[in-house]
Amino acid sequence: MAIATINPATGELVAEFTAHTDAEVDARIAEAHAAYLAMRTTDFATRSAWMHRAADLLEADLDAAAKMLVLEMGKTITQARGEVLKCAKGMRFYADRAEEFLSPRAVDDPDTIGASSAESRYQPLGVVLAVMPWNYPLWQVIRFAAPALMAGNAGVLKHASNVPQAAIYLDTLFDRAGFPSGSFRSLLIPASRVEGVLRDRRVVAATLTGSEPAGRSVASIAGSEVKHAVLELGGSDPFIVMPSADLDAAVQTAVASRTTNNGQACINAKRVIVHADIYEAFLERFTAAMDALVIGDPMDEATELGPLATEAGLHDLDELVVDAREHGALITTGGERLDRPGWFYPATVITGVTRDMRLYAEEAFGPAASVFRVADREEALSLANDTTFGLSSAVWTRDAEEEEYFVNGLDAGAVFVNGMSISYPELPLGGVKDSGIGRELSAEGIREFCNLKSVWRG
Ligand code: NAP
Repeated sequence: MAIATINPATGELVAEFTAHTDAEVDARIAEAHAAYLAMRTTDFATRSAWMHRAADLLEADLDAAAKMLVLEMGKTITQARGEVLKCAKGMRFYADRAEEFLSPRAVDDPDTIGASSAESRYQPLGVVLAVMPWNYPLWQVIRFAAPALMAGNAGVLKHASNVPQAAIYLDTLFDRAGFPSGSFRSLLIPASRVEGVLRDRRVVAATLTGSEPAGRSVASIAGSEVKHAVLELGGSDPFIVMPSADLDAAVQTAVASRTTNNGQACINAKRVIVHADIYEAFLERFTAAMDALVIGDPMDEATELGPLATEAGLHDLDELVVDAREHGALITTGGERLDRPGWFYPATVITGVTRDMRLYAEEAFGPAASVFRVADREEALSLANDTTFGLSSAVWTRDAEEEEYFVNGLDAGAVFVNGMSISYPELPLGGVKDSGIGRELSAEGIREFCNLKSVWRG
């Protein structure tokens, strides 16, 4: 795959970049390693000041950075601005909270282990490799980089090949903010060269956000090297609507949750599961609201749904929908790629999805929602859990007992009650089953890349 910016709204090649040579990659890892050796002796206050400065710089670049996101992967300009601001917020969150999250934990009764005192403390690990996807070109990286650098690590980034300008922007951001030069470096390399980087002895751990096959590959290499790996992989999140729900709010939120980021978020609501008592009313309103979305140029402030990020993504989504239709599914709106330049696919609603269709089991990475009718909460839960994924989930109900039933029963890394799955710096993010291993964000996210060192004093 070429390392290139191709405008998804037009299909035009904007810029192509030459991959780093092996010698350049080696030099960048060496720089990151030297930066780590400098970083590990710095204190939280110093790193916090640098991280705040990095957040300020990013905010000062708001307009240009947002336009870069739109150009490279087609999200709408309003959502692009939101992503940039969210990054700044996440950076400040870790700048302010890292010391608290990584404070030493003393053993209360050290005499029981023959010690005068004992504690465990968090120390940085070294250079961590981040392999990142294109769907949130800045936020995916920042939610790794902010905690990793605040813990005293250095990072090297292999970004998705279709967002090289985001990778190049991030390459200098932390240097500009005052971090030791090289604390964060982008490697312009294809996926086939990730293995060499991960096997480098100066790289001590990895994090990958992306598809399941990529995750399996990186995890197996990390395993063979006995290196820690965090994986944030795909999802096919259920969005359950029960009769007591506020129907208007549920419909509106289902639309937003299925179509945000042009339908290309890991935690989009991909399977909408609706109780039979409200199914017809929900489907009618949901279809109308999906149909009403303004689709068009993502640079236009009025656009609500832009193109898919890549031609391959458009092709994959179209194949899933065609397969479902051929096996008897019904399309209540959308269902055909738009006849215009760029990789536009309309908001699509599909009913009658059954187990013999690929759409039942596979992740639809675009604005296509499957809507299911269920007779009761048991069927809703069983259908929601009938997936190899387990990233996030949502349930709409005003019945407290029913809420507990779903919160406890859903096999997922998160449950949002009467709301939409969103990543927040304050909440751990990650999945169960094939959706991944480990957690990002919150206190857990910063501890993933630390050596938890036990200290015993006689
Ligand atoms: P992808 O193909 O797996 O790409 C993600 C990154 O992995 C890119 O940098 C890619 O490089 C690299 N890569 C691909 N194959 C690799 C391999 N065999 N070894 C090492 N690196 C490899 O994923 P995508 O299709 O672009 O992204 C969408 C997927 O990411 C969806 O499944 C989505 O649900 C998931 N995702 C998950 C989360 C989460 O937090 N759980 C968040 C966002 C997205 P190239 O670009 O050079 O191929």
